[in-house]
Amino acid sequence: MIKRMKGTYDVTEDIAYMHEIEKKIMTVSRLFNYNELRTPHFEASSLFHRGVGEATDIISKETYDFIDRGKRDNTLRPEGTAGVVRAYIENKLYIDPVTPQKYYYYGSMFRYERPQKGRFREFRQFGAEAFGSPHPHIDAEVIAYAVMLLRSLKLKDVTVHINSLGDTASKTAFHKALKTHLRDDIDTLCSDCQTRYEENPLRILDCKVDQDKAVLKTAPKPLDYLNDEDKAHFDQVLQGLRAMHIDVEVDKNLVRGLDYYTHTVFEIKVSKDLLGNQNAICGGGRYNHLVETLEGPTTPAVGFAFGIERLIVALKAANYPLKEPYLHSYFLVLGDRARLAGLALMQRFRMGGLMCNMDFMEKSMKAQFKQSDHQSARFVIIIGEDEVNQETVQIKDQETKEEYTVTINEAYEKVVDLLTAGSACVDCDKGEK
Ligand code: AMP
Repeated sequence: MIKRMKGTYDVTEDIAYMHEIEKKIMTVSRLFNYNELRTPHFEASSLFHRGVGEATDIISKETYDFIDRGKRDNTLRPEGTAGVVRAYIENKLYIDPVTPQKYYYYGSMFRYERPQKGRFREFRQFGAEAFGSPHPHIDAEVIAYAVMLLRSLKLKDVTVHINSLGDTASKTAFHKALKTHLRDDIDTLCSDCQTRYEENPLRILDCKVDQDKAVLKTAPKPLDYLNDEDKAHFDQVLQGLRAMHIDVEVDKNLVRGLDYYTHTVFEIKVSKDLLGNQNAICGGGRYNHLVETLEGPTTPAVGFAFGIERLIVALKAANYPLKEPYLHSYFLVLGDRARLAGLALMQRFRMGGLMCNMDFMEKSMKAQFKQSDHQSARFVIIIGEDEVNQETVQIKDQETKEEYTVTINEAYEKVVDLLTAGSACVDCDKGEK
């Protein structure tokens, strides 16, 4: 039997959680005025090599690369930002008069990682990017957007960790200080950190292997090397967050894995009780030079990305109250003529916005009642030979246990009346159980 590839999974019962998250993403994105942008699942390999950074783990170890039949180098996207930036430049989205230009994306990402709990080779991310404003308050707004999504999903036990790397001058001063500090102890660090020392020294600060070594504990921190301008930026981000009543923890060791960050970086973690060790659910930050690196106009930007799989695990652990799927009406039909009458009436119900299903298996009456129970139908619409001859149906209300016989023409109105009894709003109540 052919099995799914290592590190991938089929979405079966989790689809209800996924739909719930997707619904909230759309609602919260509207609140913050972000529009969806869909980009391809594969791009030219050079986009990620130049955009994300040659020395990052994602690019050096984890990309799915392939050469197509036209001998082009392709890469399955390992993250969303580079593709969105490419689309921003290629489609000249920067001429949009509404600034900053705000986009969100949702979809699969691919990384050749060692699969483990909360870590897959194909996983989904929801991310957002705001282009065109260098203002620290948009950093704060982006964080507020991420936190609002978690609030809308009723996840309370979350912490926002934040840090600032500063812009190029501060970053360069810090790199120099860090390398000087580590120089004599480089041999005591893990082999990855020895490579990072040359290519990406910043990453040594959040190395899981070396983090408890004395030389790292005493290492200089990016915050201590911010110049006045970059310090002022960070202070204003924190001010903006305070104004929106968003609590954050400044974490001097937070650096994040990607090369392109400048100024603000942040990560949102859910309590370990809900997610275990892979408890980072969202990461993001400002990237003021990526658009330029990819040959677009100078454009400051800031964004984040959420891992959907980890969100789902967190929602389940927090007992998120999902609405059970249900039907307004199940059509119990006995015989071919009844099935035809049922099909016609069910079409009328569906056109009127009622969720319906019926028997297509020629099951017995008892078995059809069981089916209606499995699908949590509020009403069973019974049509047999007698009903067809008399042009009537029987309606059984499974909630009140009342039964009604009405003509076929009256059936839709009767069901809507019963669904909305005592309510002022037909549309609201038709959709809710
Ligand atoms: P990153 O793009 O690495 O900054 O990751 C952003 C978020 O995506 C993380 O906080 C995780 O929630 C999620 N994520 C990253 N890699 C994986 C993976 N291999 N499997 C599942 N989720 C992931």
